[in-house]
Amino acid sequence: MTQHSSQAPNLTVLRDSLLAQRAELLSRMAHERGGVVGRAEVAAEQYETAPSDNAQLRTERETNFAMSEHETAELADIDRALELMRKGEYGNCIDCEVKIPAPRLLATPTALRCIACQSTYEAHHKHF
Ligand SMILES: [Zn+2]
Repeated sequence: MTQHSSQAPNLTVLRDSLLAQRAELLSRMAHERGGVVGRAEVAAEQYETAPSDNAQLRTERETNFAMSEHETAELADIDRALELMRKGEYGNCIDCEVKIPAPRLLATPTALRCIACQSTYEAHHKHF
């Protein structure tokens, strides 16, 4: 009985999962930016002539902004992973080029680095 190598993640499965993640993210972003407007936005239009009382509103706007920043970054990760797949370079750490273990890719299809490089990267890009 031949054993499938655990070195080779199933790219089709990972690609489908990335595409599904991407579609979901895009629809979430469209939902936030378009059609459905939050209460704060509606209030802003009604009270545009009274700008003194908008601290709460400003906070909500900043939260929305931070969220879309996060989603933009997430989308960039997904696109990057898909791009690497097209080039046949997917699954290699972008920093040290070691093969990223399949279980890690399955858990996090957007993983671009091996765990060691990811820890180093996060240590240098801490967000609080
Ligand atoms: Zn690495």
